[in-house]
Amino acid sequence: MAIASINPTTGEEFARFDALDDAEIETRIAAAHTAAQHYRLTGFDERARGLRAAADILDAESDTLAATMTAEMGKTLTAAKAEIAKCARGLRYYADHAADLLADEPADAGAVNASKAFHRYQPLGVILAVMPWNFPLWQVIRFAAPALMAGNVGLLKHASNVPQTALYLGDLFRRAGLPDNVFQTLLVSSSQIESILEDPSVAAATLTGSEGAGRSVGGIAGGALKKVVLELGGSDPFIVMPSADIARAASVATTARVQNNGQSCIAAKRFIIHDDVYDEFLDAFVAEMGAQKLGDPTDPDTDIGPLATEQGRTDVTELVDDAVSHGAKVALGGHVPGGPGWFYPATVLTDITPEMDIYGAEVFGPVAAVYRVSSLDEAITLANDTSFGLGSNIWTTDEAEADTAIRDIAAGQVFVNGMTTSYPELAFGGVKDSGHGRELTRHGIAEFCNVKTVWIA
Ligand code: NAP
Repeated sequence: MAIASINPTTGEEFARFDALDDAEIETRIAAAHTAAQHYRLTGFDERARGLRAAADILDAESDTLAATMTAEMGKTLTAAKAEIAKCARGLRYYADHAADLLADEPADAGAVNASKAFHRYQPLGVILAVMPWNFPLWQVIRFAAPALMAGNVGLLKHASNVPQTALYLGDLFRRAGLPDNVFQTLLVSSSQIESILEDPSVAAATLTGSEGAGRSVGGIAGGALKKVVLELGGSDPFIVMPSADIARAASVATTARVQNNGQSCIAAKRFIIHDDVYDEFLDAFVAEMGAQKLGDPTDPDTDIGPLATEQGRTDVTELVDDAVSHGAKVALGGHVPGGPGWFYPATVLTDITPEMDIYGAEVFGPVAAVYRVSSLDEAITLANDTSFGLGSNIWTTDEAEADTAIRDIAAGQVFVNGMTTSYPELAFGGVKDSGHGRELTRHGIAEFCNVKTVWIA
């Protein structure tokens, strides 16, 4: 895949970059390794100053950076600015909290015949981050903020279609005053990941992306006996029970499905509706989805911009066409519009059956699959009938129903009467083919730490 910026609104390429060659990669890894030896000895205050300065730079440069993100991957300018603000908040969160999150943890010294015993969190060293284009800033900051505060050093291999955002990130922390080479962008192809990850100077990896990329990088890390965090795809259920506020559920369901032009791992993708409120929900949902304006992502009135890549739109089109050819009904949308750009409209499908490809796939576009069920048990069985287990949503005012869903849905997250969202204060991650490990909170910052046990006689 070429490392190039191609505007999804027009299909036109506007920048192209060469991948680093092997010698350049070796030099960069060596520089990261050297930086790690010094950076591990810096204190939380110094690291926090750098992260706060990076947050200030993001705030100050939001307009130009958002324009780059929108031009490279098509998210609306409004969404790009919101993503930048979220990154600034994430940086400040870890600047404020890392020292507490990583404070020494006392152990029961008497029980282990010690005068003193505790656990200390120490950095692992150089961490390779393989990242996706869909939240081109946030996915990287979600890794970098805790990793840098813990004293690790980052090497970023970003998705090939967002190289300018990647280069911006490679410069950000140096401009913010952190030491040279504690965070570098490597413009490389995915085929170059294996040798980077196998380099003895690289301690661990994190990958956010598709299941296939996860299997590949997870396999390489496993072979090299290196820690890996995998944040992969999802096909989140959105269950609506009769006691729910149906109008509100339909409105939030729409946002949950079309956010980021339908290209979010934690977008609600399967809408599982109780029979008693199915018609009412479907009418309201189709009306809300139908009101979503498809168009130029730089226009503030646009709700849904283009899909990021031509292949992405082909994948969505094929899933919808396959479903329709096997009997799914189109309640809204379902056709590729004419004209330039990789647009796909808000679409609602019903009457989905397990033999359709869409049943088990992750649909990365604004296409909702709506299912009818007659009980909570049936809803949860259907919710769990997927290889994924990232986020999930249930709408009910019945506490017992909510408790059952919290207990039984096989997912990393359950949101009750709301849509799955990420905050620095909430752990983020999945089970099953959605990956393993956690980001954000204390769980995220601990992933790339050596939890060193200290015992003193
Ligand atoms: P992707 O194609 O898997 O790419 C993600 C990253 O992995 C890119 O840097 C890509 O590099 C690299 N890559 C691709 N194939 C690889 C392989 N076989 N071996 C090693 N590296 C490989 O995913 P995407 O299309 O950018 O992003 C969409 C996917 O990410 C969706 O499945 C979405 O659900 C998932 N996602 C998950 C989360 C989460 O937190 N769980 C968050 C956001 C997105 P190239 O670009 O050079 O191919």
